Amino acid sequence: MNSKKIIVIGSGFGGLAAAIRLAARGHQVEIFEKLDKLGGRAYVHEINGFKFDGGPTVITVPFLFDEIFEAAGKRREDYITFVPCDPFYRIFNHEGRAFSYNGDEQFILQQIEQWNPADKEGYVKFMNSTKAIFDKGFVELADQPFLTFWDMLKVAPDLIKLQSYLSVYRYASQFVQDEFLRQCFSFHPLLIGGNPFDAPSIYAMIHYLEREWGIHYALGGTGAVVAGMGRLFEELGGRIHLNAEVDEILVDENKRVSGIRLADGSVHQADDIVSNADVALTYRHMIPGQYRRKYTDRKVERMKYSMSLFVIYFGTKRQYRDSGLAHHNIILGPRYKELLDDIFEKKVLAEDFSLYLHMPTLTDPSIAPEGHEAFYVLSPVPHLGAEIDWTTAAGPYRDAIMQFLEDNYLPDLQANIVAEHYVDPLYFQGALNSYLGSAFSLQPVLTQSAWFRPHNRSEEFQNLYFVGAGTHPGAGLPGVLSSAKIAENLICDN
Ligand SMILES: Cc1cc2nc3c(=O)[nH]c(=O)nc-3n(C[C@H](O)[C@H](O)[C@H](O)COP(=O)(O)OP(=O)(O)OC[C@H]3O[C@@H](n4cnc5c(N)ncnc54)[C@H](O)[C@@H]3O)c2cc1C
Repeated sequence: MNSKKIIVIGSGFGGLAAAIRLAARGHQVEIFEKLDKLGGRAYVHEINGFKFDGGPTVITVPFLFDEIFEAAGKRREDYITFVPCDPFYRIFNHEGRAFSYNGDEQFILQQIEQWNPADKEGYVKFMNSTKAIFDKGFVELADQPFLTFWDMLKVAPDLIKLQSYLSVYRYASQFVQDEFLRQCFSFHPLLIGGNPFDAPSIYAMIHYLEREWGIHYALGGTGAVVAGMGRLFEELGGRIHLNAEVDEILVDENKRVSGIRLADGSVHQADDIVSNADVALTYRHMIPGQYRRKYTDRKVERMKYSMSLFVIYFGTKRQYRDSGLAHHNIILGPRYKELLDDIFEKKVLAEDFSLYLHMPTLTDPSIAPEGHEAFYVLSPVPHLGAEIDWTTAAGPYRDAIMQFLEDNYLPDLQANIVAEHYVDPLYFQGALNSYLGSAFSLQPVLTQSAWFRPHNRSEEFQNLYFVGAGTHPGAGLPGVLSSAKIAENLICDN
């Protein structure tokens, strides 16, 4: 096979994985990244001796990273150390009562016993039924391209048999009766930008997938994974351009993409282009409308986008080892469906919230100064299609969350903070170039999944490819790493 010149736009996990895979196949690959560091949503905020992972913290399906290093003839262990987390999550109800789970079924059944013993049997049935979903949705389909409608038709009978027309919440509710436990076994679509009340039940497999391979943390933080992948890419001869925002994808007279023009005006030619930038943004802002038949501005505007996030990164000068918190915590508010309606449907900023609280120093003290504690707290909020002015709403929203944490989980929190930074939907829009400031790109609903999602090979141009959250199979590290594998196969084997 001839060595091609390939440009990758963006260095999120999808972009990095694709760049490494293509370089390992002998292509000349260059990454152009808008920001001053690699990683995209996994950007590391370094403040006063703390290293805060900006985005992903939960590593599921670690072998997908191993495969990337193997493709380059290397061992992942020589670059990155994964350690298992136990429990996987500790989930608190609105009264602060905790339910923990890990990969041990007996442990989970003991936990369920404390909430609603009658649900133990249903939980076992739920797990057994999600195996079939996992075998189909993950093992068989996650790394397959859905380029033609026929690909979709072929899997339709299985999707119907697996009840994919049900939402994850409804699916879990068939087996589990206790309302809080239903929430514990249905929140997973939120991890990839979906509403548990309308994400198809295929995403119920996330809970199964966690059990299959465990939940891991990378020592040094997820930033260490980004750094390891960046190093590997350069060892393969790849070139990285930081602070290099792509303004336009150039199209030649044969209707093939031929290169990029950066914001500084410079032009770089390529045989193939892989965009890891937001799909909506790539089509809407980088490719002139006259070349787009399917992804017109109107089509892009009509697609459904995931929620956004409000994230506060904070470090304290004291530790909170007796707080009852685990490494990964979910703190549910008094309302579940109603709050999700506010976020996804009504698009209003509610006064209550449900939070994910990350406390990585429990596993890895190296990311904070000695004797200190590092955290981030994340609250799902509507995307910028809502009428919320974050320039005025952000401060009070931050204060409400920090006061809540101080009153309920972290005594004297605000007097002990020595490092802090927050991001809101304007960050996702401005810094990461996400349409409507969505945190996970296109929302995972049935009508935007598989063939219905923007394809990994563009429907507009034969030599433009997409990797990352907005293309098939979707957001989350397993999804975006799988998209890179699909793009590699499409580019190298066709
Ligand atoms: C706060 C948060 C927590 C999360 N937690 C988890 C988790 O624990 N586990 C998990 O599996 N998933 C998690 N996710 C989801 C996961 O992080 C994302 O789905 C995934 O990282 C997205 O990767 P990507 O390949 O789509 O690229 P992105 O990370 O979206 O990166 C795209 C890159 O393209 C660059 N770019 C954009 N426009 C241009 C341009 N014009 N020119 C050049 N470069 C450009 C951007 O600067 C960015 O670096 C989380 C997401 C968020 C936001």
